[in-house]
Amino acid sequence: MQVRRAAVLGGGPGGLYAARLLKLAQPSCEVVVHEQGDPDTTFGFGVGLAAGTQRKLEAADPDTLRDLVVAGCRHDMTMSVGGRMTRVRNDRLIGIARTELLAVLQRHAEKAGVRIEYGTRRGTGEFDADVVIAADGVSSATRAAGDFGETIDVGRGLYLWCGADFALPDALFAPVETGHGVFVTHAYPYSGGRSTFLIETDEETWRRAGFDRTTDATPPDASDATSLRYLEEVFAGELRGHPLIGNRTRWTRFRTVRCARWSDGRTVLLGDAAHTAHFSVGSGTKLAMEDAIALVEALDQEPDVGSAYARYEATRRPAVERLQELARRSRLWWESFPSRLHLPVEQLMVAYMTRAGNVPLDRFAEGNPDVVTAAAEQYAKAPPPAGDLVDWVLDQPLRHGETEFPHRVLPAVPDGLTVTEFADVVTDPWNKTGDDVVARARQARRDGADGFRFAGPADRLAVLTRLDLAERVRTEVGGLIIVDGPASARADLAAGLISGRCDLVSFTEEEA
Ligand SMILES: Cc1cc2nc3c(=O)[nH]c(=O)nc-3n(C[C@H](O)[C@H](O)[C@H](O)COP(=O)(O)OP(=O)(O)OC[C@H]3O[C@@H](n4cnc5c(N)ncnc54)[C@H](O)[C@@H]3O)c2cc1C
Repeated sequence: MQVRRAAVLGGGPGGLYAARLLKLAQPSCEVVVHEQGDPDTTFGFGVGLAAGTQRKLEAADPDTLRDLVVAGCRHDMTMSVGGRMTRVRNDRLIGIARTELLAVLQRHAEKAGVRIEYGTRRGTGEFDADVVIAADGVSSATRAAGDFGETIDVGRGLYLWCGADFALPDALFAPVETGHGVFVTHAYPYSGGRSTFLIETDEETWRRAGFDRTTDATPPDASDATSLRYLEEVFAGELRGHPLIGNRTRWTRFRTVRCARWSDGRTVLLGDAAHTAHFSVGSGTKLAMEDAIALVEALDQEPDVGSAYARYEATRRPAVERLQELARRSRLWWESFPSRLHLPVEQLMVAYMTRAGNVPLDRFAEGNPDVVTAAAEQYAKAPPPAGDLVDWVLDQPLRHGETEFPHRVLPAVPDGLTVTEFADVVTDPWNKTGDDVVARARQARRDGADGFRFAGPADRLAVLTRLDLAERVRTEVGGLIIVDGPASARADLAAGLISGRCDLVSFTEEEA
């Protein structure tokens, strides 16, 4: 369709990129972006752009990508636990300041002929346009007022987003145990002299440290200075003596937004307004910019607004939902992170990389043989030979009390072992149903059970959730932990073994 006039609400990455791409695709269209803030004020510090995102941006708009890469800061990833460190290479991951990202996108939008109006909060009803793109962020007033069937899930953990005035050499994941509990930082450099420090904790630790009170006492446009000073001491080593910098920094719970519909009449949602994915998969900006690519393509190729919006949603929804599911698993993993601090750092890194089922164990091993070799030695007390790593993990023997298992695939529970089976269908192993399984497992142990077997549906997502539940019981209750799954999930089951989620696996029928 030929769009005559397009109004874009919100000058974040999604809105600015959609505006530029639309103006490039349809030069006669009048495209105006309405942003409530000023050109150079924004929240937050840096964001990450992974290799896959960069490839998509390159195909859609190589000029913009070139400037983003120049403004960004490439880095590897390290994890540091109890003084031990391990590192994962990542050749094309860049961090970029959010201010710099927006400056590049503003410049390119204006160069293409987009008009940007700053400084006034607007509503989509005010626009005389045939296409209204609502890219007004996670707290979208458009979404709240329209018929989009929104649902919002609030995370259990708390996080705050701050920065530091020096560039870390690499991204860093580092937990620190304090008298109040564990705080974890996800930190990364995003320019020659700056780093993002995102810090997470659980609710009990947050309350014990008194941060429920400091959060209440912090005005909306200020930073929680008490928390920043406390965390500066907690992460003094990681900060190398630098202070933490706030920018309207306060403790928040992550909100996962989902919508049953992404359009309502001539208005279409884009980016965080339509969906969010937990920050630990670093993908909010990517999703918003990829939405922009698909929306402009659909507008260009379909005859009217209705079919263009339908095509946009049909193209994007599967990828968004897949990522939201990965992000949900990743959020649950990080919320339960302190329970894994007993693991050696390399095993913990393998657990981290395989936490959501997105990175296959053997692919991770190809790029990072040193990390996986160390983790394999921690798992089996022997280095893996060259060859199929998954086979090797499954082939390792296990001694449990007096019982010897020749390998980790169990044909049948041996005589003399008492194993209690759980077949509960659990979506979140750390919710009430998960608590109930843990309570029953404790009782079963008191009653003499040697271990637990986790059975259930054969689909991959169910197997991954079972591994998480098994891990929780293994950590909190102990005993021999067996997880059922079909042979097609053998790589996931092997990842579960090497990262300490279970002790044995048992192959079951494939999904019908
Ligand atoms: C802690 C944290 C860490 C993150 N880390 C990463 C990361 O590493 N990588 C990554 O890709 N993403 C990350 N994100 C997510 C990322 O910041 C967002 O997903 C991304 O900014 C979404 O872009 P957007 O354009 O949809 O919305 P936003 O960037 O939120 O932009 C919305 C814009 O709309 C404007 N606006 C809202 N209402 C109105 C109105 N009524 N009138 C006018 N203007 C309005 C706002 O001022 C804002 O500028 C992180 C997010 C958080 C919270």
